[in-house]
Amino acid sequence: MFAVHLLAFHFTKLKEDQIKKVDRYLYHMRLSDDVLLDVMERFQAEMVKGLGRDTNSTATVKMLPSFVRSLPDGSEKGDFLAVDLGGSQFRALEVKVFNDGKQSSQLESKFYPTPKEVIQGSGTELFNYVADCLLDFMESKNLQHKKLPLGFTFSFPCKQTKLEEGALLAWTKHFKVRGVQGTDVVSSLRKALQKHKDIDVDVLAMVNDTVGTMMTCGYDDPHCEVGLIIGTGTNACYMEEMRHIDLVEGDEGRMCINTEWGAFGDDGALDDLRTEFDRELDLGSLNPGKQLFEKMISSLYLGELVRLILLKMTKEGLLFNGKVSTALLTKDKIEMKHVCAMEKYKEGLSNTKEILTELNLFPSEEDCIAVQHVCTIVSFRSANLCAAALAAILTRLRENKKVLRLRTTVGIDGGLYKTHPQYPKRLHKVVRRLVPNCDVRFLLSQSGSAKGAAMVTAVAYRLAAQRKQIDAVLAPFLLSLDTLREVKDKMRAELEYGLKRETQASATVKMLPTYVCGTPDGTESGKFLALDLGGTNFRVLLVKIRSGRRRSVQMYNKIFAIPLEIMQGTGEELFDHIVQCIADFLEYMGIKGARLPLGFTFSFPCRQASIDKGTLVGWTKGFKATDCEGEDVVDMLREAIRRRNEFDLDIVAVVNDTVGTMMTCGYEDPNCEIGLIAGTGSNVCYMEDMKNIEIVEGNEGKMCINTEWGGFGDNGCIDNIRTKYDKQVDEGSLNAGKQRYEKMTSGMYLGEIVRQILIDLTKQGLLFRGQISESLRKRGIFETKFLSQIESDRLALLQVRRILQQLGLDSTCEDSIIVKEVCGAVSRRAAQLCGAGLAAIVEKKRENRGVEHLQITVGVDGTLYKLHPHFSRVLQETVRELAPQCDVTFMLSEDGSGKGAALITAVAKRLHNIGRK
Ligand code: ADP
Ligand code: MG
Repeated sequence: MFAVHLLAFHFTKLKEDQIKKVDRYLYHMRLSDDVLLDVMERFQAEMVKGLGRDTNSTATVKMLPSFVRSLPDGSEKGDFLAVDLGGSQFRALEVKVFNDGKQSSQLESKFYPTPKEVIQGSGTELFNYVADCLLDFMESKNLQHKKLPLGFTFSFPCKQTKLEEGALLAWTKHFKVRGVQGTDVVSSLRKALQKHKDIDVDVLAMVNDTVGTMMTCGYDDPHCEVGLIIGTGTNACYMEEMRHIDLVEGDEGRMCINTEWGAFGDDGALDDLRTEFDRELDLGSLNPGKQLFEKMISSLYLGELVRLILLKMTKEGLLFNGKVSTALLTKDKIEMKHVCAMEKYKEGLSNTKEILTELNLFPSEEDCIAVQHVCTIVSFRSANLCAAALAAILTRLRENKKVLRLRTTVGIDGGLYKTHPQYPKRLHKVVRRLVPNCDVRFLLSQSGSAKGAAMVTAVAYRLAAQRKQIDAVLAPFLLSLDTLREVKDKMRAELEYGLKRETQASATVKMLPTYVCGTPDGTESGKFLALDLGGTNFRVLLVKIRSGRRRSVQMYNKIFAIPLEIMQGTGEELFDHIVQCIADFLEYMGIKGARLPLGFTFSFPCRQASIDKGTLVGWTKGFKATDCEGEDVVDMLREAIRRRNEFDLDIVAVVNDTVGTMMTCGYEDPNCEIGLIAGTGSNVCYMEDMKNIEIVEGNEGKMCINTEWGGFGDNGCIDNIRTKYDKQVDEGSLNAGKQRYEKMTSGMYLGEIVRQILIDLTKQGLLFRGQISESLRKRGIFETKFLSQIESDRLALLQVRRILQQLGLDSTCEDSIIVKEVCGAVSRRAAQLCGAGLAAIVEKKRENRGVEHLQITVGVDGTLYKLHPHFSRVLQETVRELAPQCDVTFMLSEDGSGKGAALITAVAKRLHNIGRK
C-alpha cells in the first residue's frame, strides 16, 4: 500500500515537473484572456479595414463579399449537385432537398483523392480532373442524363462579382496550381464540364466552405449566421449588413462576408505573438509570409509546429536524452492525427508512447508527459486564437443588430474541430468568456462545407422562383409612360364631360362650380370663423386677417375628434356635434357673443348654386351620415345652430379644401390657380374660364371648379389598370364602386392596398413563412404613414422590421425587403397617377390661355404629399414628363383648408359689401 502511494506521489511530482518545464519553455504560446481580448480588438479593426472602400486594397483580411444574401428558409426543394474542392479530399455530391416542413434532405456523395500532381499541376489538369470525377459520380448514380443545377464549393479566397463568378486571389493550404490565379474558376469548371458531351449541368453558385457550412447549418437552425472552418485551413464567414459593405452596390439587407481570416497578421499585426517556431514553419511552407493566422491554427500546421518544438527541445537536451531521430528531422512527420491521439488524456500516455516510438525516439515516461503537454499547448493556442477572432465577429453582429445580448448560432465544420478530443470544449469556453453578452450555439455541420454549395444553389433557385412570383404580383403596378399618357388623356376627356351641359349629369368627374371667382387682393381684413370638416380631424378656427402694409393672417384653432358613430350616424347628430364643438371653441376663445362671419370648409363633393349654398352629392372617404346626401349642408348647419339656440353665426361661404388651399397659396402667389389635395382623399380644383363652364350663366372672367377627380374611373374607364387588390380595397370600403381613382391615389387607401398585396404574397408562401397573422387580417391596420416610414431612405432594414413587428408582423430580413418593395410600388403608382391627372389639368390651363408655354403654380396640401419620402418628387416628375410645355411650381400650403376658408369668406364679404354700396 505504502509503496503504491509513494509511487503515485512520485508520478504526480514527476508530471508536475515535466509540465512546468514545458510551460516555461512555451511560455510565449500560452495566451491570457487579456492578450486574447487584445487580439479580438485587432481583428475587429481588420474587419473594418477590409470592408472599407479605401482601405480594402491594403487590408490583409480581405472580407470578400460572397453574393449570398439569404439563408435557407425551409421552403427550398429540388435535386442538386455539388462538388467540393479545397479540403483534404475532393468530393462530389447529390443533395435532395424536400419542402416537407421537416427541413429534411438526403445526401449521397463520393470522395476522390487529390493527388499531388493534380493540386500542384496546371489549371486545365485540375478542372479536367474535377469534371472527370463528377462524371464518374454521376454515372455511378445514374444521373448523367438529368439536367441538374450544380453548386461549387471552392475553399480559397476568391473575388466574387456574382454568385456564379469569382476570380482566385491566391492559393492557400497545400494547393499550388499554375495558371488559375486571377481567373474565373466557375468558367474554368464550365469549360471542363462542356468537354463531356453526355452530361448537362448548370453551375449556378460558387461558395467558400465557410459559406457552405453556414448555409447547411442555417437549414436546420434559422439563427445560424456565422460559418466557421477549423480543418486543413481555417476561415470564417458571417452575415454583414449591406450598408457596411462598400464594395457592393446597395444598402438593403445583408450579405455573407467570407472574412478569409487566415491572412490575419500577414502585415505583421501578430508578430508579437508569433514564436520562433511559427517563423520557422512559415519559411518551410508553400506560401511563406502568407496566411500567418491560419498557420497558427489549422490542422495542416499543428503537427509540424509540434515537430519543430520537439526538435528544438531535443537538441537542447530537454527531451529524449538529447537524441534526435531522422524521423524527427523530417518535415510534416507529425500530423494532426498524431496530435489528436496524443491528447486523448483518457487513454493515458499509451498513444503518445506509441507515436514517439514510431518516430524512433525511445521516449521515457517523462518524455511522454512533456510531449503530451506540448501538444496541448499548441492546440490550445489554436483554439484560443480562433476564439478571439470569432468573438470579434460575434461582437460585430451584436453591434450591427443594436442589441445588448446576441442570440446566435455558429455553424462549424473541419477536421480539427471534429476529431480533436478537447478542441470544441475549449473553443466554446473561451468564446463565452470573451463575449459574455452573446448566447452562442455551436452547431456541428454534417458535411457542411460540401452540402452547403447545394444549399446555396437551392436557395438561389428558390429566390429566383420567388422573385418571378413577386415580380408578377407587382407588375400591374408598374405603369409605362404610354399608360400614364393614356390616363392623362382620359382624365382630360372626363374633365370636358363634366363641364359640358349635355354630359355633366352623367360625368364621373363632376367639375363642380364653386362660385369662387376672385382671389384675395390684400385688402381683406377682419375676424372670421372657419370650420374644417372632411379629413382626419374636425377643426374650428378663428382667423384674423390684416390688410395693408401690415398684411398678415393670425389663426387660433382647436381640433375636435369626430367619433366613428357620429361620422356614420344620422345627419342631425353629425351637425349637432359640429355645433357643440363650435360652442366649445367660442367659449374657449371668449367670443360667444360676437356674430362672426363663418367659412365652412366641407371637403366632400357639393353642387353649389352660390357661394353659400352647397348640396352634398355623396359622402366619400370615411363619412356616411344618413339624410345628408341631396341636402344643403349650409342649411343643415344653420338648423343645428338654431336647434341649439345659443349663439348665431353668419355663414358666408361653403368651401372645398382644394379651393381653400388654392386661395391660401394665391394669397402669396397670384399665379396660383390650381389647388391639389393629397391627404386622406385626393382632389383638385382650378380656375376655369367662365365661357367653358356651360352650367353657369355668364362668359366673363373665371370661376374655380372643384373637379372631384376622385370619382375618375367610376365609369370603368381606367379598369384596365386597376388590379385585383384595388378591387378588394374598393369592395371593403364604405362606398364600393365609387371614387376609384381616389382609392388608387390617396392616404386613406394606400396602406390598405399594401395590406391586400401582403396577404396575397403570404398566401403564395412568399412572405412571413406563409403565415397570415391575425393582425394582417385587420382592415386598416396598415396605415399609410407606415408606407412613409418604411420607404424612408434613411431607415435601415432592421427598423423596417421593427415597424412590422409593432404591427404584429414577424418578419425576416427578406420579408422586410419585400414589404418595402410593395410599399414602393403602391406609393409610386399613386404619385404617377396623380401626376398624370395633374398633367391633364395644367395642359388644359395652357390651352385655355392659348400659350405655347405655361407658367403656373399649384397650391398643395395633404399629409401624403407632405410627409411621404418620394410621393411629391414622383408626382412632379410625372407632370414634367407628361406636360413638358408647362412649367409648374408646387407651393406647399400652410394650413390651406382653414386659412383658405377664412380668406374666401373675407373676399366674399368684401365683394358683398361692395355690392351693397
Ligand atoms: P386630411 O386629408 O384628412 O385633411 P391630411 O392631409 O393630414 O388630412 O391627411 C391625412 C391622411 O394622410 C391620413 O388619412 C393618412 O392616410 C395619411 N398620412 C398620415 N400620416 C402620413 C404619413 N406620415 N405619410 C403619408 N401619409 C400619411
Ligand atoms: Mg385636409
